[in-house]
Order: sequence, then C-alpha cells, then structure tokens
Amino acid sequence: MLTSNTTGRKAFDPAVRGYHAVYREDAVNHCPGCGRTHWLIGRMLAECGFCGTALPLSDGYFRGAGSVHRGRPAIVSRAA
Ligand SMILES: [Zn+2]
Repeated sequence: MLTSNTTGRKAFDPAVRGYHAVYREDAVNHCPGCGRTHWLIGRMLAECGFCGTALPLSDGYFRGAGSVHRGRPAIVSRAA
C-alpha cells in the first residue's frame, strides 16, 4: 500500500512555482495579453474586455454565498 511517505515526491512549495498572474481588486491591473485595463469581474475570474484573457481573482475564494467579504465596510445611512 502506498502512502505519502513512500511516494518519494516533495511537498508542494508555492514559493518556487514562479510567476503567477492574478487580478488584484485594489490595484490597476494591466492585461498580460494586451496591456489594457478594462475587466469583466466574476466570482472567481476577471476577464479582459478586449482580448478575453482570464485571470483568477487574488481573493476570489472570499466571494459568493455564505462567504465573508474583506472589502470596505458598507456605508449605511440611518435616517430616522
Ligand atoms: Zn487583454
């Protein structure tokens, strides 16, 4: 029976995976395909509006139903 200790593979190290392009919500993002900055933002990906290059969101796993959003707090007016 094979176990993780007998496969001989090293554990995944994200520091050595190299260049990894992501869409950052709080920055100006230039498309790696065409250099423009118009994006269509989804739940997990951002797609360039000109050439269709898709990038994963840097914090995409925080979106969607039941997730906690780390963005700016909502401004709620309490007019009485
Ligand atoms: Zn593009």
